[in-house]
Amino acid sequence: MDIAPLAHSLQTGDRRSLARAITLVESARADHRAQALELLQAVGNGKQALRIGLSGTPGVGKSTFIESFGLLLTGQGKRVAVLAVDPSSARSGGSILGDKTRMERLSRDPLAFIRPSPSQAQMGGVARRTREAVALCEAAGFDIILIETVGVGQSETVVAELCDLFILLLAPAGGDELQGVKRGIMEMADLILVNKADGDLKPAALRTCADYAGALRLLRKRPQDPPGYPKAMTVSALEQDGLETAWAEMQALADWRRAQGHWATRRGQQAQHWFTEELRRGLLAVLEVEPTRGIVAAEGQAVAEGRSTPEAAARQVLALLHRA
Ligand code: GDP
Repeated sequence: MDIAPLAHSLQTGDRRSLARAITLVESARADHRAQALELLQAVGNGKQALRIGLSGTPGVGKSTFIESFGLLLTGQGKRVAVLAVDPSSARSGGSILGDKTRMERLSRDPLAFIRPSPSQAQMGGVARRTREAVALCEAAGFDIILIETVGVGQSETVVAELCDLFILLLAPAGGDELQGVKRGIMEMADLILVNKADGDLKPAALRTCADYAGALRLLRKRPQDPPGYPKAMTVSALEQDGLETAWAEMQALADWRRAQGHWATRRGQQAQHWFTEELRRGLLAVLEVEPTRGIVAAEGQAVAEGRSTPEAAARQVLALLHRA
């Protein structure tokens, strides 16, 4: 494949080129990998989009929210890309956004680009693929990138390390206890949106929202937050209620962080994080290749049989890498 024309058409914002480019970075083939790196190099750093992570368990209304919120943004002339982080196809039928009918109107919008997650990918692979897809969307000039994740395993951490804003979507709770949301996830949230605040569910949504607002006030203050953040609010994705207010909050927070220098610092830290991750992956990959692989197996056997200690065996292998 000739990379230069693809890079060029991608930079003009062509959505088919963007889709082809993402397919290329998703491929595990060695020759595709080389081309993907060439492409990423060729497009360089695009303009910075606002990257918004959206997390929530299945059924809270993520697709409905993305459809309504995405249309609100495209209605303002913004170009919106939607990506999904879904490590092990938690839903039946593979990819999380595979069923296009779930965001039917947004997927037909010329200002929007929706990309389902590839199924059955490993978390490490998903992290790299999503990061590269984000870079390609920025190269293609998108203004806002929504990164959706179901609340499982490591996917929140991956998304938090990619985003400028992290949003947690919740459903109204039945009882009065908080819905078992892990503290770590709460601590990542910039905005908690309690969805389905409509009809019969509205009183429960307001109660849930008040509970979370209280819980957020108890969290340790983060330097990247202006007073009053993180916030909890109610929305109805279905009735498109509260979305403009939520968007105003997101913009206010992003503007404040830009003005205070937190934005640039955070992006720098994120890039450093991914550099370390890539190094780690690269080192682990070296251990999988002969002759190191055989030596690792032999040392492992020696440890199992008590002929060596874990520390000494590990040091043997690391000494080999030092010499290489
Ligand atoms: P996801 O699994 O998180 O993507 O959730 P969906 O967007 O597929 O929504 C799950 C169900 O909740 C669907 O039946 C939606 O119609 C419903 N739903 C989503 N948003 C709202 C809302 O704001 N109000 C109400 N009442 N129902 C909603």
